[in-house]
Amino acid sequence: MKIGIAAVQGAFLEHENMLEKLGIEYIELRQKADLSKGYDGLILPGGESTVQGKLLKELDMFDTIKAQIESDLPVLATCAGMILLAENLSNDDKRYFQSIPMTVKRNAYGRQLGSFHTTAPFQGIGEIPMTFIRAPYIESADPEVQVLAAVNGKKVAVRYKKQIALAFHPELDTDMRIYEGFLKLVRNGSYKFTAST
Ligand code: GLN
Repeated sequence: MKIGIAAVQGAFLEHENMLEKLGIEYIELRQKADLSKGYDGLILPGGESTVQGKLLKELDMFDTIKAQIESDLPVLATCAGMILLAENLSNDDKRYFQSIPMTVKRNAYGRQLGSFHTTAPFQGIGEIPMTFIRAPYIESADPEVQVLAAVNGKKVAVRYKKQIALAFHPELDTDMRIYEGFLKLVRNGSYKFTAST
């Protein structure tokens, strides 16, 4: 199993460290040629969604990644990555992969609460640490989008088909369980985030 990590901008090294701890092979996706190297899952890291979207288009990587996501490549997206997957953004005119039918608000916690750490229950896993950095949250989602976690009534983690989108940064904490769940999804083609898994 090999994971491709979008590495044009943002916190991709932290995801690489997590995969190294788990002994999982990965490749950095930095240019179009990397997209045909073959990988079984994709990580879209946090960072700045506008910069990432722009660079992916300028590097001619955007359409290929969009097609890979649409053909059901498993995806783990954190923060800016979640913004890239959203069908709609409530406070930005830009749109990117639009592969999850949800509306996301960028920088949703305002200035004072821009960054914070908390713990909250995650569907099928239990209480996990969550680090938010100028984070988005999900304002609304279609009924077929599974909500995996909420903090203060705001949806912060969802799953749709083989895409997992998180408003927070599991790569900045030491809890590996979200990665383990994602890797099961990659390995088995399916994984249910429910109490019985
Ligand atoms: N605020 C960033 C954006 O809008 C996301 C922040 C992050 O990825 N930590 O893209």
